[in-house]
Amino acid sequence: MVPRAQRKDHPLLFELGAPGLCSAALPECDVPAVRRSEAVPAALLAESPPPLPEVGELDVVRHYKRLSHRCFSVDENFYPLGSCTMKYNPRINERVAALPGFAHLHPYQDDADVQGMLELLYRLRCDLADIAGLAEVSLQPAAGAHGEMTGLMIINAYHRSRGQDRRKVLAPDSAHGTNPASCTICGRDALAVKSCKNGRVDIDDLRAKVNEDTAALMITNPNTCGVFDEQIADIAEIVHAKGALLYLDGANMNAVLGITRPGDFGVDVMHYNTHKTFSTPHGGGGPGAGPVAVAKHLCEFLPVPQVVRRGDGTFAWDYDRPRSIGKVRSFYGQIGVLVRAYTYIRSLGSDGLRDVAEKAVLAANYLAARLRPAYKLPFPPPFAHEFIAVPEFPDGEVSELDIAKRLIDHGIHPPTMSWPIHHCLMIEPTETESLATLDRFVEAMLDIAEEVRLTPEVVRSAPHTTPVKRLDEVTASRKPNVRWRGE
Ligand SMILES: *Cc1c(COP(=O)(O)O)cnc(C)c1O
Repeated sequence: MVPRAQRKDHPLLFELGAPGLCSAALPECDVPAVRRSEAVPAALLAESPPPLPEVGELDVVRHYKRLSHRCFSVDENFYPLGSCTMKYNPRINERVAALPGFAHLHPYQDDADVQGMLELLYRLRCDLADIAGLAEVSLQPAAGAHGEMTGLMIINAYHRSRGQDRRKVLAPDSAHGTNPASCTICGRDALAVKSCKNGRVDIDDLRAKVNEDTAALMITNPNTCGVFDEQIADIAEIVHAKGALLYLDGANMNAVLGITRPGDFGVDVMHYNTHKTFSTPHGGGGPGAGPVAVAKHLCEFLPVPQVVRRGDGTFAWDYDRPRSIGKVRSFYGQIGVLVRAYTYIRSLGSDGLRDVAEKAVLAANYLAARLRPAYKLPFPPPFAHEFIAVPEFPDGEVSELDIAKRLIDHGIHPPTMSWPIHHCLMIEPTETESLATLDRFVEAMLDIAEEVRLTPEVVRSAPHTTPVKRLDEVTASRKPNVRWRGE
């Protein structure tokens, strides 16, 4: 039998069908038939029926099941995707989100009919405020980047309320691309602050760049180099001294849950990525959520509506916030995702969340220590929940891309590559992997390093076990050719 990953000739659904095949057996029509031309205005009628495939039910099931086996997923394989926390999504989350009382709600229902959901959202926003050490949370934003935009709108509103229009937003040069993009979307100018050799913010450069025109510094901590910047309290002081605010990109909260709270180290606004920190589905798995937490002086600017608990103990959507930045999303946010995040938080509790961070940090440092003999670590340990390794080999002809592709042959998803510095792999094991899996990853990485010495061409031509090899990634995403059939 050909292993399923190597089978290259799956027909398209359109090629599977045959006229008359059908997936549904409808009963005889028991009402008088109406002619199409009488039921639909002529202008709306197509000349011929759409060319839909005619396929039996079992063929449809098998077709999609087969295609699904071509997907690489965290349910099947190790996924050390640095800066992204692709951790296992516990099944209990799915069970709770699928409860009919949650899953079948409609956003137009009256508050009185959806008290259970409103209570859940209210409790979630309070839990997220506690975890952040901040005053209040909005659950509306639909992703991290959307949270950044919301946070910057809040920052703009704050400065405007004080009669100021501050144009500049600073971000370390290691920042995620969404940070400067969000600044631009919010009509601010992004300005990079230099990093030191050890991956931390260059304090002198920060001092030189922050002034009365600075709206905020956006910082990620632990940062994208995988290190926690211990200067954060000083950084907050420098920023605040000029009347600017400190924004935390909370994408790396997985490393500090329950250990430290952004509000305690001077953060005024932050976003979470529930799909990174709180095990809600990621990427192709579904939409995310990017709740925003703010300090007390910013609460009045949060988006509407806000879920509130009224004096009589009932829950409601509150639109009565005159200084709010307004709505940032249709309806109330990604509710199904928020239910999953709440389930995760409640099933772990505060001790469990701290344990998540400690284990994630331990796993990253374990991998770093074991890979050190074969890979260069540009930043010194200790690391937070992820670290950067640089494959630097004597002949210089094997790149990080080659290593990443060869990992696929070991059944391991490639880590983030070439970011935030050149020629690197950014490795994040997460807390959910067993020691055996971590060891298997180490063996694979060490094997590949050895292979680079002995048979580099094998690494340079990897992967060898997948239905497609090295795609032109840009063209593949812009002009996907779904008819492609192997070599
Ligand atoms: C993932 C990520 C973002 C963007 O978050 P999305 O939820 O993908 O929009 C921003 N900053 C950092 C550091 C990230 O890792």
